[in-house]
Amino acid sequence: MDLGARLKGRHVLVTGASSGLGEHFARLCARHGARVSVGARRREKLDLLVAELREAGALEARAYALDVTDEASIKSCFNDLAAPLDTLVNNAGVALASSALDTPLADFDSVIATNLRGVWAMSTQAAARWRDEGREGAIVNIASILSARVSGGVAPYAVSKAAVKQATHALALEWARYGVRVNALAPGYIETEINAEFFASPPGQAMIKRIPMRRLGRPEDLDAAFLLLAGDAAPWMTGAFVPVDGGHLVSGL
Ligand code: NAD
Repeated sequence: MDLGARLKGRHVLVTGASSGLGEHFARLCARHGARVSVGARRREKLDLLVAELREAGALEARAYALDVTDEASIKSCFNDLAAPLDTLVNNAGVALASSALDTPLADFDSVIATNLRGVWAMSTQAAARWRDEGREGAIVNIASILSARVSGGVAPYAVSKAAVKQATHALALEWARYGVRVNALAPGYIETEINAEFFASPPGQAMIKRIPMRRLGRPEDLDAAFLLLAGDAAPWMTGAFVPVDGGHLVSGL
């Protein structure tokens, strides 16, 4: 089955698309002929990307100002969407490296506001519209292997991503009756510009040795799972938590 072909013509909204994996997913959707909408807090940061998406083959590409922590911003983004949505990709996220005892409550709140409340607010907005319009829809939550296991110094992030996993299950159960599928893609450690320095350091190298496949992921390692969840190739798949991590979650204790 050509998973990419099952995305052609679908309207996909990717949150937090101004960098990293969000930008990668938007490009992937464009290459497969989707109608791509990208959201970020500063819309002007997306202008270049939108031009690239059009050139890469997107049926249409548009940028929207979107802060997933702000209900008014979310509503205005959904109201402005140029066409009915088929897939929502909840990618926006923030990570915070600090030990629990050194984390001010305000920092904890801000991680939860983006990673969990943002996913909730975006998802309920999308699902309510799909239900009211009698349309099917798909939600892809970008979770993490920290949804299922823990690592030191990132407790608020791990807590938020564990909740995203459970939200995926709970919302899949509630919305199956409306034809709304909710699944989670859980990446392991993916090499990006932001973490390149860490993974070149001795602790970073030690971490790579704990990944059973002995290497970091590349954004494109996520493509097949993303296409499966974002397109319509798996219409009976909902509530799934799909790790793509070189075996990190099954590493020996
Ligand atoms: P990133 O920092 O490049 O991307 C996160 C994006 O979210 C940024 O563009 C940021 O501007 C945006 N964002 C943050 N707060 C926002 C808000 N309130 N409203 C709208 N956008 C907002 O990092 P990334 O690695 O590309 O992460 C993307 C997603 O993948 C995150 O949810 C992250 O937790 C998850 N993830 C990443 C990895 C990895 O190794 N890179 C592993 C597992 C999970």
